[in-house]
Amino acid sequence: MVQVEGLHKMFGDLHVLKGVDLEVPRGSVCVVLGPSGSGKSTLLRCVNELEEITGGRIRVDGELMGYREVTKDGRTRLHRLHPKVVARQRSRIGMVFQHFNLFPHMTALDNVAEAPVQVRGLSRSEARARAAELLDRVGLADRADHYPAQLSGGQQQRVAIARALAMDPELMLFDEPTSALDPELVGEVLAVMRDLARSGMTMMVVTHEIGFAREVADTVVFMDEGVIVEQGTPEQVLGDPQHERTRSFLAHVL
Ligand code: ATP
Ligand code: MG
Repeated sequence: MVQVEGLHKMFGDLHVLKGVDLEVPRGSVCVVLGPSGSGKSTLLRCVNELEEITGGRIRVDGELMGYREVTKDGRTRLHRLHPKVVARQRSRIGMVFQHFNLFPHMTALDNVAEAPVQVRGLSRSEARARAAELLDRVGLADRADHYPAQLSGGQQQRVAIARALAMDPELMLFDEPTSALDPELVGEVLAVMRDLARSGMTMMVVTHEIGFAREVADTVVFMDEGVIVEQGTPEQVLGDPQHERTRSFLAHVL
């Protein structure tokens, strides 16, 4: 589903991703761990085309993201895609951030219904019916008419997940979705993510929730300083890490 090959990302002189290779098969969950500044968010943002990549290739569902290959005189070059094509590619990917960024002046229901109306051209009533189903799926059927300020952080984050699902994504990216929450609210958000994983969604999740990684991940990736130091099953990476950097990181978060 996601294939990252030799990905490099520079911000000016700062070399943030230094040749990342990663594959996330359809229907699987990849948890990305690593210290602050290691490039985890940048990796997700490149997959979602929020950042222009400096080198390498990213494919989602076989399609090159952001670029097309042009072969001329036997040489292959990359050309940037039209912004409209990028927008279409991006609409297949849902993203949930640490801060939920709901529209404060809209109810939970309208937050979820908005993009399908604006982007997909669904009628308001169709979009709202679907939004109600999605709010039910994240356990918030009874909060549809609440405004974000009337919801707890965990509830707001579940609305944000429903909002991302409203666009029928093939891939969901989560960037530390629980790290801004009070500890007692973390579990309800992880439970929604676990259900989503069980439903067969392909997911890339940056999180420090090791219990979630152990239980839900198919692959755990440990990044440090812009490279993947180690990747494997949760048993391998969390239970029997091969690299000193992974061991010392895990000793800090466990
Ligand atoms: P954290 O755990 O703190 O969220 P991270 O692993 O997600 O860290 P990134 O946010 O990907 O790390 O950042 C990696 C490096 O890239 C950092 O040194 C950061 O300062 C730098 N960086 C990220 N975004 C930009 C940007 N837009 N411009 C310049 N530098 C950036
Ligand atoms: Mg980050």
